[in-house]
Amino acid sequence: MRTLKIFGICTSLLLVLTAMTNPVKAEEAVINTEILNVRSGPGQTYDEITEVHVNETYPILQRQDNWVEIQLDSMTGWITTEYITVQKEKTSNNEADQASKQSSIDEITIPYENTHLRSGPSTEYEIVGFAKKGTSFDVLGETEDWYEVKHEDLKGFLKKQFVKDAADTVSRGIENKTIVIDAGHGGRDVGAIGASGTYEKDYAYKTSLELKQELTVLGANVLLTRPKDEFISLGSRSSYANIAADAFISIHYNSTPALPNVTGIGTYYYHGQNKDLASYVQKELIKETGADDRGIAYGDFYVIRQTFKPAILVELGFISNQEMEQLLQTNAYQKKLVQGMVNGLLKYFGNN
Ligand SMILES: [Zn+2]
Repeated sequence: MRTLKIFGICTSLLLVLTAMTNPVKAEEAVINTEILNVRSGPGQTYDEITEVHVNETYPILQRQDNWVEIQLDSMTGWITTEYITVQKEKTSNNEADQASKQSSIDEITIPYENTHLRSGPSTEYEIVGFAKKGTSFDVLGETEDWYEVKHEDLKGFLKKQFVKDAADTVSRGIENKTIVIDAGHGGRDVGAIGASGTYEKDYAYKTSLELKQELTVLGANVLLTRPKDEFISLGSRSSYANIAADAFISIHYNSTPALPNVTGIGTYYYHGQNKDLASYVQKELIKETGADDRGIAYGDFYVIRQTFKPAILVELGFISNQEMEQLLQTNAYQKKLVQGMVNGLLKYFGNN
């Protein structure tokens, strides 16, 4: 699959759109996904300026289509409404006046990195500190929605939902996870064409079978969107993933016949929360193969855009490079590629 990057933004159009946005008062955004990118403007093409995390709550300043501008501690930024719940802002601090009563539990472990602790039991209170993931805090008291917690010098209020959601998170490890492997192209769609006339679809299929075998040995349930050399629509590839997958990995090889010296491996994500999956897999692929590291990048590819489960697309090498085309036909190199992806998935699912 070749990538096409479009640069250039019509600034005057943006100005008009900005002027037309409607202010929204007294609403706040509750983040529903572990990590959500905050961008400098209302669209995926704007720069990422920071991240927000699950169950954090931010006042909404304005809305524009499927984006909202939120107030962060020292700045503002835009997030997609796809992964948030909009709720009415609590108008009073009444909850704060309630003395926090004795809690039924003595201790909690902080489930997420840099969990916000506030000076009172509401998001209107200022943040007094950030709790490190894995730290044990003594529970001093609780209100309906908040715990009052303390660890060494750090004391503050922590939203109960944080702890509850972490406990609900699915079991760690790759065992019993469903991995959907999508061998790119197939049938009449041969994909990219290699230096000696080989087809991308055949490499992608070979790698997919090998990957299936390795993941199955580790106890994962593995599904192939394309179990043989046939044409499968992009739509049915992603609907497969949307029904079943704990992770979806689409396998491709690249080609730039005009630049036959280009080599390297790259991994693409579409939805910001899949960046960590992309990073794990990319890092381990490079470690195993020693290939040129083309890094991870946002990629607007149908199969990962329309998949709402953790999904990435890997470009495992350039078949337009004669030397690489030869290497990719060897079992030894295929095994390295597969081992890299397996190691990345193991890290992602917390096997270490
Ligand atoms: Zn492709």
